[in-house]
This record gives sequence, C-alpha cells and structure tokens, in this order.
Amino acid sequence: MRLKNIPGSREEIAASRFVVHDPEEYRGRWSALFGNDHPLHIEIGTGKGKFIMGMAVLHPEINYVGIEKYSSVLLRAVQKMEEQELSNVKFIRMDAEDLTEVFGRGEAGRIYLNFSDPWPKDRHAKRRLPSRQFLGRYDEILEKGGRVEFKTDNRDLFEFALGELEPAGWRLEEVTFDLHGDDRLAEGNVMTEYEERFSAAGNPICKYIISR
Ligand code: SAM
Repeated sequence: MRLKNIPGSREEIAASRFVVHDPEEYRGRWSALFGNDHPLHIEIGTGKGKFIMGMAVLHPEINYVGIEKYSSVLLRAVQKMEEQELSNVKFIRMDAEDLTEVFGRGEAGRIYLNFSDPWPKDRHAKRRLPSRQFLGRYDEILEKGGRVEFKTDNRDLFEFALGELEPAGWRLEEVTFDLHGDDRLAEGNVMTEYEERFSAAGNPICKYIISR
C-alpha cells in the first residue's frame, strides 16, 4: 500500500476511544472489554476498515478486532466509526508480529487476511501474513477448529500461501481462484477496499479457508 503520512494521524489514533491503546492488558480477557462472551474474530491488516465494519453490521453476535500497522491508514477506519459507531468493533494499531502478546491461547475463533502485502523479495517471505511464521502465531491464538480466511488478487502470493500449509501443519478447507465466480463461496462475501478496486479492474480474486 502506498502510504501518505497524514499529519496529526498518530495523535488522533492515540486519542481515539475506538482504538485499544494497551491491548496486552486484555490478553485472555477480550470478552471483558466487549462486555459479553461472543466469539472473537480478528482481521490483520485492516486498512481503512471497510471489511471489518461491514462484517460487524452483518454479524452483531461476533466481536471484531481490526489490527493495522499504520496510524495514517487506520485514521480512516476510526473516522468511519465516528460516523457509524459499532459496539462490536475495536481497532489496534500494532504490528501483527506481536499477536501472541495481545491474544491468549485459543482466544480467537477466526482470523481474516485480506489483500495482504506481497513482500515479493524472497528474503522478506517471513513478513508475508500467510507465511508459516505467521501461521505459527495464528495457531497459538486460534481456538480448536478455528479458521483463517485469506483473500487476494495476487496469484504469486496465493500460490506461496498454499505452499506454506503442509509444512506448517494446516489443512485446506476451501479454495477458489475466482471467488466472485463461485456462487457458494461468494455467499455473504463482504468486499474490502482493495477487493472492490481490483475486481473492478477485472482481476479474479483468490480465497482460501484453512484449519489445523
Ligand atoms: N485489508 C485491506 C483491503 O483489503 O482493502 C487493506 C489491504 S493493504 C494492501 C494491506 C494492509 O495491511 C496495509 O494497511 C498494511 O499497513 C497492513 N499490514 C501489513 N502488514 C501488517 C502487519 N504486520 N501488521 C499489521 N498490519 C499490517
């Protein structure tokens, strides 16, 4: 993602009540923050929040946490929440590398990765969100039977992600190389910002759902 540094974004994120500023304090007790024991679903690389907020409207019985590394991107998500406040959504500005410091063992039911950065150089493979290193982190925080759902239009990244499953001990539950052409898997699909842009440009969208 091309990043514009937006002046004041860091301060606005630091002051926002929609952002959890001390997320380590809720490790193992996110239900206390939401005030209910609904399932916890996490999106990593949440961007401007379109997907997670769309999901939260459709599924009020689920608690959603959106993780985003950059204040200047998360700012737009926070501004959307000011226009349409959703009690089942919180954001964290952090690097997902520290995921296991913020969520307890088996605490999450589902993890969404949407249009993750490709990190095309081989030496950066471990930074890719569907890499085996990240799958190891997801393994720790996902409950038994928990799933990871990944969407991208980047075929090379998707092929890489598929190749990571067996060495990391994960199982493919569903896969498509053309999500929008697959009526069954597209049912209930909530589009992300990138998904709207790339599918409008004619790029097919790949998706997998995995478990371990
Ligand atoms: N998911 C959105 C969508 O589909 O429209 C945004 C996609 S954008 C290409 C990827 C986003 O993931 C960026 O906002 C980036 O800052 C964020 N991101 C990448 N690596 C991350 C990490 N390790 N931790 C948290 N966020 C990350």
